[in-house]
Amino acid sequence: MLIPKRCDVCDKELLLGSARYDVDIRVASSFDGYLPELDEVDATEESREDKLAKLLENLDAISPEEAEAGVYQEIQMTLCPECRRKFLAALGDMTGKELQSQPKKQPILLQ
Ligand SMILES: [Zn+2]
Repeated sequence: MLIPKRCDVCDKELLLGSARYDVDIRVASSFDGYLPELDEVDATEESREDKLAKLLENLDAISPEEAEAGVYQEIQMTLCPECRRKFLAALGDMTGKELQSQPKKQPILLQ
């Protein structure tokens, strides 16, 4: 049996067959390939042992859940048309791009 869902933002009931939008967001830590050398220490910097001790101290201070959340998060939402519009406008404000007027992908025409 199909059960009507609710908008995950405004909690409006999404009647069966009405417009709704699924949003899947994946936020993953990115690696640029650069690893700072622990040995690159000049006379004014802390020793390698001090740096390692500090690093291990910082790792102890956060829970595994916090550490994981800092590396990878997945967010899934279902939105009503109004919240979709607000969501895209907020993303547009953040990126400085007009996301709502982007054209759909052109279909590939077979001859
Ligand atoms: Zn909504």
